[in-house]
Amino acid sequence: MKVPRKIKACGAEYKVCFHRNLCGDKGQPLFGQADVNKYIINLEYGMDQQKKQEVVLHEILHIIDFNKGFNLGEKGVNNLTLELIQVIRDNKIKIS
Ligand SMILES: [Zn+2]
Repeated sequence: MKVPRKIKACGAEYKVCFHRNLCGDKGQPLFGQADVNKYIINLEYGMDQQKKQEVVLHEILHIIDFNKGFNLGEKGVNNLTLELIQVIRDNKIKIS
């Protein structure tokens, strides 16, 4: 999956930035993070294709969750990500 430099979601444009050793607020290692205030999706550099696909979809779902007020939370976003990835893979849906 080639990740675009900008991702449009919920009517806004998010800049995609890659980092080495991406960390959360408490110093915990992260694969991805959506900053909905700064309109940035931060991604860990060097993930394999499957992991990158999962993480990008996960962060997009966080953005949708935040903007639409679904209140999915981390667990809900995780579950939805895994289910969607499974449907995409089971049906060989190509995401360019
Ligand atoms: Zn998350």
